Amino acid sequence: MRRLALLGGEPAFATALHVGRPNIGDRERFFAYANQMFDSRRLTNSGPLVEEFEQELCRFLGVKHCIPVCNATAGLQIAIRSLGMQGEVIMPSFTFIATAHALQWQGITPVFADIDPQTYTLDPDAVEASITPRTTGIIGVHLWGRSCDVDGLARVASRHNLKLLYDAAHAFGCGYRGRMLGTFGDAEVFSFHATKFFNTFEGGAISTEDDAPADLIRLQTDFGFSGYDKVESIGTNGKMTEVAAAMGLTNLASLDHFISANLHNYQTYQRVLADIPGLTLITDDSAECSNYQYVIVDVDAAKAGLSRDTLLRVLHAENVLARRYFWPGCHEQEPYRTLYPEAGQRLPHTRHVAERVLTLPTGTAVGPQEIESIGDILRTAVASLPRRRE
Ligand SMILES: *Cc1c(COP(=O)(O)O)cnc(C)c1O
Repeated sequence: MRRLALLGGEPAFATALHVGRPNIGDRERFFAYANQMFDSRRLTNSGPLVEEFEQELCRFLGVKHCIPVCNATAGLQIAIRSLGMQGEVIMPSFTFIATAHALQWQGITPVFADIDPQTYTLDPDAVEASITPRTTGIIGVHLWGRSCDVDGLARVASRHNLKLLYDAAHAFGCGYRGRMLGTFGDAEVFSFHATKFFNTFEGGAISTEDDAPADLIRLQTDFGFSGYDKVESIGTNGKMTEVAAAMGLTNLASLDHFISANLHNYQTYQRVLADIPGLTLITDDSAECSNYQYVIVDVDAAKAGLSRDTLLRVLHAENVLARRYFWPGCHEQEPYRTLYPEAGQRLPHTRHVAERVLTLPTGTAVGPQEIESIGDILRTAVASLPRRRE
């Protein structure tokens, strides 16, 4: 049995194994796009590469509009404003902080509703129970690429005349019942940040079937300009650059490779973790097609004999930089913790799940040997640590 680095052994990895190391497509293809960009002297402002990327995104998703933006946080801010959300908007606390910030940044109160512990996404009943006269919208998060209960949320939204937006930052390439995520609600926002399944260095996109918000989104992404010297609305700078689109076009051509690498890793984890007591790989039965970008382990501390956080320390000592996506919930971070100190009382499932889950490294930078080693570390920790301590 190996000697754990936490107990003084050599770390299993000399260099750190991060969660979310970028998936990078064919370099020569990227350089060819970059040359086109330099030749055209168009670096930004809806150049030819961004236009081509936009068309490819629409085709891939099967959606009418998919407007590239500089990152998903700006994309969320623009989508929220374009849909006319104000007052209060209901969202999960179990998400990355940007979902909440995109609301609070523009003076909208994020109202945190609980997740369904079976699906890990926003519970439509909890949403309904959180509605007040000030509520104008719902933001569902397709956490780890798992589809929200899109039917349940659509019913609540239409019953109460609320706008429905999805934070699809994790969900590029994922689907639900034969439809790609990105085609649901009033609009959806993807992140193409370097750590996400599909990246444009930094970037994102807002997808919608409806022309009216699409027009507003385009205006607001470019300072409200509708032509030379003509400003029609308030706007910001949310534009995607040409070099980002070059990366996007490059990586689109490698999507199948990214997915098969992730799937293979996922299956390797399934095999390697199967016999470790207390550790359960969370499977995704909600989506018919997944990008397998998030390998999530549920740690049952009673059965494993040690906590999620002890396992995290064990892994970090070995240079395996596992993450707690997401801990703590947004409601426990500032400014929400101070502004809405009671929020946690309505979030028992969020608090429970956030204490147990661990995200392990995958992607094209990780292979079966690394996963076997991670399995050995976890197996050793669960078999030997409980007896030594606590
Ligand atoms: C990464 C992420 C964002 C922010 O995306 P950026 O492109 O980095 O701005 C928003 N929401 C969730 C759930 C994320 O994981």
